[in-house]
Amino acid sequence: MERVMADCRRWPSEMNCSLTIIGDREEVVRAAAEHAASVHGHEDSPELREQVASFLEPEESYVPGTREQEPFPAA
Ligand SMILES: [Zn+2]
Repeated sequence: MERVMADCRRWPSEMNCSLTIIGDREEVVRAAAEHAASVHGHEDSPELREQVASFLEPEESYVPGTREQEPFPAA
């Protein structure tokens, strides 16, 4: 199964979150949604999981260290 990445370094956040989650799609969506809820104060909802799923990148996109941030897309 193809592994994917959800990378908090990609987005601006108050705590400058450095977390990167890589795994199977289902695992990453779940972990990233739980992370967004517990750390970033979002409500864990089907909409949040949909949004998380739309931000997934291929595992190969991972680069170690820091990453240039992108503006968070408007909902
Ligand atoms: Zn984060």
